[in-house]
Amino acid sequence: MTLFPAEAAGSLLQFCCIAPAYACNIAPESASMIAAQSNYVPRLLPLRMPRLCVAVTGADAGEMMDKAESLIRDNPLLELRLDYLSQPAAAFPKIRRLLDSRSNAVIIATCRRAANGGKFRGSVERQLAVLAKAAASGCQIVDLELQSAAAARSADLQRLRHRAALLLSFHDFRGTKKLEETFQKMCAYPAEFYKVVTTATTLYDNVVMMKFLEKASQQHSVVGLCMGEQGVISRVLGVRAGSVFTFAAANPGEETAPGQISARTLREVYRIEQVDAATRVYGVAGDPVAHSLSPVLMNTAFRRENVNAVYLALHAKTLEDLLTCVREIPLHGLSITMPYKESIVKHLDNCDTHTNRVGACNTVVRGPDGKLYGFNTDVAGVLRPLEQRLALQGAKVLVLGAGGAARAAVFGLKERGADVYILNRTPAPAQKLAHQAHARLARRPDLKKQAFDVIINATPLGMAGSKESPLHEDEINTRFLLEMIYSPAETHLVKMARAKGVQIIPGSEMFVQQAARQFEIWTGKPAPGEEMQRVVERGIREAAAASEEKANKHA
Ligand code: NAP
Repeated sequence: MTLFPAEAAGSLLQFCCIAPAYACNIAPESASMIAAQSNYVPRLLPLRMPRLCVAVTGADAGEMMDKAESLIRDNPLLELRLDYLSQPAAAFPKIRRLLDSRSNAVIIATCRRAANGGKFRGSVERQLAVLAKAAASGCQIVDLELQSAAAARSADLQRLRHRAALLLSFHDFRGTKKLEETFQKMCAYPAEFYKVVTTATTLYDNVVMMKFLEKASQQHSVVGLCMGEQGVISRVLGVRAGSVFTFAAANPGEETAPGQISARTLREVYRIEQVDAATRVYGVAGDPVAHSLSPVLMNTAFRRENVNAVYLALHAKTLEDLLTCVREIPLHGLSITMPYKESIVKHLDNCDTHTNRVGACNTVVRGPDGKLYGFNTDVAGVLRPLEQRLALQGAKVLVLGAGGAARAAVFGLKERGADVYILNRTPAPAQKLAHQAHARLARRPDLKKQAFDVIINATPLGMAGSKESPLHEDEINTRFLLEMIYSPAETHLVKMARAKGVQIIPGSEMFVQQAARQFEIWTGKPAPGEEMQRVVERGIREAAAASEEKANKHA
């Protein structure tokens, strides 16, 4: 299967032109229907269909149209959600004024009924009347649900289509099923655009959607995506598979559908307008991944180094779902995070020595042969920040913890000739690791009188602002502390160590360096480390501010 045919992607590489139809993926048949609608064609002819349609809501017509006014300069395609207004009619004169002042604007009027996921509580007749007035005010496209079309009189539908292009829509808020069957039903109603929006409950649902788009877009102008956190792949790559455009929220917090991404994020982070057939696709796979800083970090690095690649958050609830998706979507590489770092290893075709020794993989590359190769870049993530500060040969290092991250640290440090001590809550994993890596076991009672060059915290103690610490103050006798936790930046352990004059190496540096190594493996280019560090620190600050605001709200 070719999910992203070159022709489809090519036609979407640039903004599509509504006329001539063959210059974009608007089916000729639909275009001729548009052409037949003489009253709105003049508006459409010079227009280019952007890839992003920004959904605009508002508490009243004034607020909605103020937002539309401020958005339209950067976003010439807007969807006005008239169903959010108690008096949609109040918006019509303002719509007319806006369209008169912006000759390149295209507005989709939507008045979705509550029964179909919107807010409009009126009858189908009243819904049609609102849309007809929106069209009369200049909206070039009207969105009507399949269910409303089925309930409407065909004469009324025809009248509506004489006034504006029809975008016939279908929404499934539960899953991604029976797309072909639904689409067949939709095609019984002539329309200029067919919009099929479902909900992704697995990563694989994105594959189903994109296969559908690839096929359906050969005959019709289709818009398709999966809602939900797991639908992000379809929101970014759907346009490459044949969707005429995709939907975006005006701002974070103003989403009109689950999983909707803001227009700014789609443009600046995912560079949706540049995504084409040659764009390489990468992602971070895990459960959860919603708050991962990796997408903003990696997409920044790709943009900075002019790499034609996009990096997505892949929320995989099972390893099987992830592997199926990897087989079907031409992913070039993956960052693997919890809980799949260990379990993925046996599914890879080959792994580097670090992965084999540590028993965990955080980086996957799909080779030109299609095979999957595993790397462990957490080792570089630990070693690089340390080597920038001290010589590791003969350095005395205490590693707290014996899980995956601790194992990466211990094996890496031993390779560099460090004298490594391990302390873990449960003795057995520490003993096993010490034995495998030829490291020593530390005894907690000895710590007060033992000095180290470096202490590394590879436990989660201190995460999420907890006051817990793996060591007491009098046990912190070291020159450097590498705190692997990066959120919050200042754990209790860090505060205690700093007060004792210890030099702190923040977890953000490890995070950036393991990502930098991934970038190098994937692209063969040096990573823009400083820029990556800036982005991550900003992300950590923003996350801290957001959680403080949330806590204050609940207080
Ligand atoms: P992991 O495999 O689950 O290992 C966790 C380790 O912490 C185990 O040794 C566990 O000891 C110990 N531990 C857990 N809860 C504890 C508690 N309440 N008291 C004392 N010890 C406890 O996790 P991991 O992947 O190694 O990650 C460890 C930490 O490193 C996490 O905070 C993670 O976020 C961080 N990390 C950061 C980066 C980065 O880039 N900065 C990268 C990877 C990991 P037992 O054996 O007794 O369960």
